[in-house]
Amino acid sequence: MVLDDLGSSLRGTLDKLRGKSRISEEDVDEVVKEIQRSLLQADVDTSLVMELSDDISSRALDEEPPGGTTARDHVLRIVYEELVDLVGESTELPLEEQTILLAGLQGSGKTTTAAKMAWWFSKKGLRPAVIQTDTFRPGAYDQAKQMADSAEVSFYGDPDESDPVAIARDGLEATSDAEVHIVDTAGRHALEDDLIDEIEDIEDAVDPDRRLLVLDAAIGQGAKEQAQRFDDAIGIDGVVITKLDGTAKGGGALTAVNETESTIAFLGSGETVKDIERFEPSGFISRLLG
Ligand code: GDP
Repeated sequence: MVLDDLGSSLRGTLDKLRGKSRISEEDVDEVVKEIQRSLLQADVDTSLVMELSDDISSRALDEEPPGGTTARDHVLRIVYEELVDLVGESTELPLEEQTILLAGLQGSGKTTTAAKMAWWFSKKGLRPAVIQTDTFRPGAYDQAKQMADSAEVSFYGDPDESDPVAIARDGLEATSDAEVHIVDTAGRHALEDDLIDEIEDIEDAVDPDRRLLVLDAAIGQGAKEQAQRFDDAIGIDGVVITKLDGTAKGGGALTAVNETESTIAFLGSGETVKDIERFEPSGFISRLLG
């Protein structure tokens, strides 16, 4: 990591260590406070921030900098390693045949993400299909179809069928020539029991290789309960954070990552199918601190 990836105030604080060969407790405190300020502002859960702070402080003071390393580089390396530990590595996503199930509340960006991911896989040379099982939200079928069309990927949905499990089954069959199946599910405004029952049934029918939880970057601490409920119901393997083109930095989603012991797979940053990128720790860290 280079200093430029850090927020400007943290960069300034670290730069004050330039030329020092030993680092004092006050120096470390100043760096840690700066990081805390940025992360709390980015909605990262307080207890995660405190854990991170303790780890950085104890390592910066206890570990002996390797010979020739300045105090500043020593702290920078520890800060970066601990931040990577906090945000995690990218969810493993082999470019092979697979079925991916998307879960999340209504409005989190599932339907958009399904088309975006299909577009992403098609650019990687695989044949994807989107299967739309949302029979709850009026307009979900048309929206999903339109987005799949603009991504130029196969699509299956059935506006006349009311049973999402039947749609999921029929969809897998109808798109059997596709290599990557992305199954979109219905959300609700809140974590109602019928939402959880429905996604459990779809999960049973589809037997996905990956189950991704889609979260709005502005989620804040509501991420915890959502993550727990979906994880208990279907097991969450990865998180997608959407709407990072807005002002929210997505730190709340780290609570979900921590809660489900999973990782982040994709980031969404706009309303078109191309506004998707694979999660990568250093870019996300810069965004959190910036
Ligand atoms: P769903 O109910 O979970 O399927 O959510 P949708 O995919 O319908 O998304 C809800 C709204 O958020 C729609 O208006 C989308 O265009 C918008 N949206 C989704 N992802 C993004 C994103 O990354 N950035 C922005 N700006 N809007 C998004």
